[in-house]
Amino acid sequence: MAGISFRNVTKRYGKTVAVDNASFDIQAGEFFCFFGPPLSGKSTILKLILGLETPDEGEVLIGGKPVNHVSPAGRNVAMVFQNLALFPHMTAGENVRFPLVERKIPEATIKARVDEVAGKLHIGHLLHKPPAQLSGGERQRVAIARALVRDPVAYLMDDPISALDARLREETRVELKRIQRDLGQTLIYVTHDQEEAMSVADRMAIMEQGSIRQIGTPVDIYDRPASRYVAQLLGAPMMNIMNATTSGRLEAGEGTIVLPLDAAPQGVSGLGIRPEDLKVEPWAERHTGKPAKVYEVEPLGGYTVVTLDTGAQKLRALMRGQPQIALDSAVALSCNPARVHFFGAAGETLRA
Ligand code: ADP
Ligand code: MG
Repeated sequence: MAGISFRNVTKRYGKTVAVDNASFDIQAGEFFCFFGPPLSGKSTILKLILGLETPDEGEVLIGGKPVNHVSPAGRNVAMVFQNLALFPHMTAGENVRFPLVERKIPEATIKARVDEVAGKLHIGHLLHKPPAQLSGGERQRVAIARALVRDPVAYLMDDPISALDARLREETRVELKRIQRDLGQTLIYVTHDQEEAMSVADRMAIMEQGSIRQIGTPVDIYDRPASRYVAQLLGAPMMNIMNATTSGRLEAGEGTIVLPLDAAPQGVSGLGIRPEDLKVEPWAERHTGKPAKVYEVEPLGGYTVVTLDTGAQKLRALMRGQPQIALDSAVALSCNPARVHFFGAAGETLRA
């Protein structure tokens, strides 16, 4: 087990900069996630770690040692295959031992190693079964066992569960998190699903066009996004972003949001409020600013999404339970100033 670092790594394909001056330190034993939209460079980062690609600039380090010139085999980083693909004509046990058989390791060593990994992953009783007779969660454990049987310094997964249906995905990611915690092995994980990234990662890196925009724990990035881009990438419904004006008081959303001016940092041009922080009340004369109109209500059972019309844009509020809210009624919007996010003209976060 070892930490993995990039120092100013750039990888180009012709004119495309797939990875742009990336630096990070993944700690040994960490569940580290790369999250970003398609084509943002996530898979290229994994290939650079595996040694399937070489950086044009910068340095890749494993366990503190430079590995730019070390072959993939010499790096001993394991990839868990896409969609947890197992060989269907082999039993689970044959799948797990395959990487060792391929390397012509003595049978006694193979058996000891398979037993050890199967024990850690609690799959000893499944080894005689073909993959078709295993549940999704069991297949995942077998696929991970096959990657870990070589005792790699880290294991990598590239969007491994995106092809599963929503229910199975939820179940699988809980399993995955539990497995990683039990093993204590460095796991580097790629996903384009924000909820998945937030649910599994100890820490995550947010990618945009080959660049790492922010690194931190999911909750830290959610609460303190470095920019408007990061703020809108995490959370569903997405953060509401409005233009802000400051003349005597801070106004946004066509005057439906009014805040004391002392809440705003210098140079604020945009204001962000997460749907769960947007407070919606029936309009009354005591309220400051202008009313918004209830545009649509989506009752989702445990919570309700309310879409509000400010006149020029739509905002979304996430409310607990099933509040009684009349369509087309006038409502007052507000937010605890401490929960408001402020952005500068370039989309950078400003601190109050
Ligand atoms: P992601 O995994 O986030 O979807 P990738 O790392 O696959 O992103 O790709 C990043 C960028 O590099 C994209 O613009 C992609 O088209 C380009 N790219 C990736 N691999 C190659 C390749 N082998 N040849 C040419 N361009 C590539
Ligand atoms: Mg990819």
